[in-house]
Amino acid sequence: MDTALADRLAAVDDRIRDAARAADRDVAGITRIVVTKFHPAALVEDLYALGVRHVGENRQQELTAKRAELAGIPDLTWHFIGQAQTNKARLVRAGADAVHSVDRARIADALHNAAPARDVLDVLVQVNLTDDPGRGGVAPEAVDELATHVAALDSLRLRGVMAVAPLDEQPARAFERLRRCADAVRAVVPDADWISAGMTGDFPEAIAMGATHLRIGSAITGPRPPRD
Ligand SMILES: *Cc1c(COP(=O)(O)O)cnc(C)c1O
Repeated sequence: MDTALADRLAAVDDRIRDAARAADRDVAGITRIVVTKFHPAALVEDLYALGVRHVGENRQQELTAKRAELAGIPDLTWHFIGQAQTNKARLVRAGADAVHSVDRARIADALHNAAPARDVLDVLVQVNLTDDPGRGGVAPEAVDELATHVAALDSLRLRGVMAVAPLDEQPARAFERLRRCADAVRAVVPDADWISAGMTGDFPEAIAMGATHLRIGSAITGPRPPRD
């Protein structure tokens, strides 16, 4: 077992506890997802042995492959956090327990149409907090329209919002906008109270804003191997 991995995980968890205490929040209301993209399935096994139960992947092929390789581990929750293509909806749906990146009606429809009978998938509306419309996520003004669309699809359970803070702005300011988007979603679906925000560089700010799901990669895994 990699003791450096255990040390980094423990250090991040200490910082999560400190940030929760500073924000007067119960740490039990915060789910720490370890983003394992580009790392081999063996790393997920090591994390599992250290108690990690939530992992995140941003590419469908990698999600599908790792989930198959680790099919013997029943109690891992797989979060899909990357751009989803409509023609891969069935594979995303088969590989993910939650999809954080629903940013247009078409992908919501594709995930819904790919549903096995009686299956319900947790989904979040991804919000674009930048000024660049080319980035992933729906514009904040369009969040309630997309939330209303998703809420009408009975094989999807709308759980809340997700975003990545822009690089050129203080994360706390961007997360304020995300919090207003979270309120807009709750106006449509009152129990959709997940806020997926906070990465290696900004998770304390995300906790202060009210994030319920942190997506932390390199602070725990170490640097990512180059992508192929
Ligand atoms: C890679 C990734 C993360 C984790 O990034 P780190 O900076 O390594 O913590 C979080 N969210 C998304 C959407 C990502 O693609």
